[in-house]
Amino acid sequence: MSTDFNQELQDRLVHYAAIDSQSDADSPSAPSTEIQFDMLNLLKTELNEIGAQDVTLTDYGVVLATIPGTVPGPTIGFLAHVDTAPQFNATGVKPRVIKGYNGGDITFPDDPELVLSPTEHPYLATKQGHDLITASGATLLGADDKAGVSIIMTMARHLLNNPDIQRGPIRIAFTPDEEIGRGVGPQLPKDLGADFAYTLDGSDVGEIEYESFSADGAVVTITGVSIHPGWAKEKLVNAIHLASKIVQTLPQATMTPETTDGREGFIHATDMTGGSSEMKLKFILRDFEMEGLEAKGELLCQVCAAVQASEPRASITCEITPQYRNMRYWLEKNMAPVKLAHAATKAQGIEPVSIPIRGGTDGSRLTEFGVPTPNIFTGMQCIHGPKEWISVQDMATATDVCLSVVQLAAEK
Ligand SMILES: [Zn+2]
Repeated sequence: MSTDFNQELQDRLVHYAAIDSQSDADSPSAPSTEIQFDMLNLLKTELNEIGAQDVTLTDYGVVLATIPGTVPGPTIGFLAHVDTAPQFNATGVKPRVIKGYNGGDITFPDDPELVLSPTEHPYLATKQGHDLITASGATLLGADDKAGVSIIMTMARHLLNNPDIQRGPIRIAFTPDEEIGRGVGPQLPKDLGADFAYTLDGSDVGEIEYESFSADGAVVTITGVSIHPGWAKEKLVNAIHLASKIVQTLPQATMTPETTDGREGFIHATDMTGGSSEMKLKFILRDFEMEGLEAKGELLCQVCAAVQASEPRASITCEITPQYRNMRYWLEKNMAPVKLAHAATKAQGIEPVSIPIRGGTDGSRLTEFGVPTPNIFTGMQCIHGPKEWISVQDMATATDVCLSVVQLAAEK
């Protein structure tokens, strides 16, 4: 295991994590929040300082840069996202370094009740002696995905300082709004100009992911009949009652996120708003196979139709919108980027594992747009919450794997 990069990775993550760059699904702008420019502008400056070329910040909020090749070869892209998850407080992150973790429970200065325990988190138990980074208990850490940003910046700085290392051309992209599914727009594949790419947005050491969910969103709108309740007998149709009937009729003991794992998909009710005259229900539908995804959409629409049939005076619509697709559909036709990442992981003495991601990455969309983009581990753990943590040594291993990817590709 290399120790060369530990201090740099630690310094970078501590610096980046303290910068609030949370995204916001309810904002229509791109990027969704102005504060993401604090990260994007900083990275643009840092890339120029380390001598990267073609450093640009696009009008759609992506920082792009080139590390010129020293030998001919395919152009490899490396991506990480600058936004942090909207699900938990991300303002005022106070990163903390625990040097040489002793293997015991970890407590947090800003929340005395909170305990990160190796018995609850077996992966933590394997990190005794490592240097860990956590937040203070009041916020998430944002290692998702500032660990990815730190790893890519460290790799870039190392390659630019060592022109004797043989490499083909490398393109770097730091994207906004990954957490709200808006990180990859239609212009990015062309602007990135990579033959294939990797996102640095995975967790356990050794994980090389090339399967994500296929994902749809659904909005159910229920319009009732609104009348003064004093004169409502046999006239009023309450949209709230119909909405709750739909929710009650959908499976709850199966096919929900809280009752599924592995390769099972789900229907997840995410949002319920409105009043007696109109209600809106929002769902996300997930499955690894298209047939399974379509079946979930059909089930939801059938439940809506059944409730509609029970009350013809109401109007119920169910609208399904595609979000992203399992990147395996494209990657299994061209497994070379996955095989290269597997070989690079093995070159670091680690057995690669490829398990399906119960979510999506920027790579899901990028792969669909024609740039094969598997996902490489960073070490991040317990993401999107106050116990989020990462091992500096795991980040160093990820940096070594990226450098091996570059070197192995140049040797071919
Ligand atoms: Zn992420």
